[in-house]
Amino acid sequence: MRYPETIPPAPPEWMKVRLKMGTPDSTSARAVREVLTRQRLVTVCEEASCPNLGHCWSQGTATFMIMGDKCTRSCGFCDIRTAKPMPLDAAEPQRIAQAIQEMKLRHAVITSVDRDDLADCGSTHFAAVIAATRALNPETTLEVLIPDFKGKRENLERIWNEKPDIINHNVETVPTLYKSICPQSNYQVSLDVLRMSAQQGFLAKSGIILGLGEEISEVKQVISDLKAAGTQLLTIGQYLQPSSAHAPLKEFVAPEVFDSLKDHALAAGFIHVEAGPLVRSSYHAGDALDRIFGRK
Ligand code: SF4
Ligand code: SF4
Repeated sequence: MRYPETIPPAPPEWMKVRLKMGTPDSTSARAVREVLTRQRLVTVCEEASCPNLGHCWSQGTATFMIMGDKCTRSCGFCDIRTAKPMPLDAAEPQRIAQAIQEMKLRHAVITSVDRDDLADCGSTHFAAVIAATRALNPETTLEVLIPDFKGKRENLERIWNEKPDIINHNVETVPTLYKSICPQSNYQVSLDVLRMSAQQGFLAKSGIILGLGEEISEVKQVISDLKAAGTQLLTIGQYLQPSSAHAPLKEFVAPEVFDSLKDHALAAGFIHVEAGPLVRSSYHAGDALDRIFGRK
């Protein structure tokens, strides 16, 4: 998707303070980088220029991205490159499992680029990563942030069969912006992925980013739609425009608006909601399970 070049608005003071916290300089952050480099793994933290990198890496948390660093889709908010992906790496499941073991993660998040080029959309490989991770790290809870797998049940079944603790699939934005922001995706298909996963008994999670020009009434409707689909966990964050060629950032949403949307979602029945300017899909990802499972 091509956008007219735009200079994003300057961040307000409260946003600048939050962004400054993103530098990974602690010993534990260096240890994370060492494991990732040695195991030749890709993280969303770096690929998507996540502003929480300093915080998460210093806590020993990272979100792994499997199946390469090139995506077959071209969402306007996303910093991951759209290009023909490389063939799958059969050794990747084991390397992910080993990295999680070396990093001693209590909760691991695994996501992937979209692989619409593959007949199974990469679901067999994704399932193999879950299986290898489980085998080597039986105590680690596992959250998978999956693509829509074109909404095909047989693809989802491969994931369900490996029993991740959380199935996350982001709707990303409001339906009226899908055409301009995520043209290869479909809002109803995404809701179906969540609905089908929730019906299988999985904790279903989703996320939305604000600042792309959506109305608050539309966001509230998305919250209702997600709840009706059986979603129980929700993240709401601020869009940060990665470059002048990405979808234009329309506004920095005030922290109070995030607070009120969080209250709204909790009142609607979500069991865990993260909402705020720097919230990302995997931000404080283990906290919900800590609460649900009563872990310290
Ligand atoms: S919020 Fe997620 S993607 Fe961002 S740094 Fe933390 S673990 Fe990585
Ligand atoms: S499908 Fe996911 S990885 Fe691919 S461009 Fe969209 S948001 Fe980025």
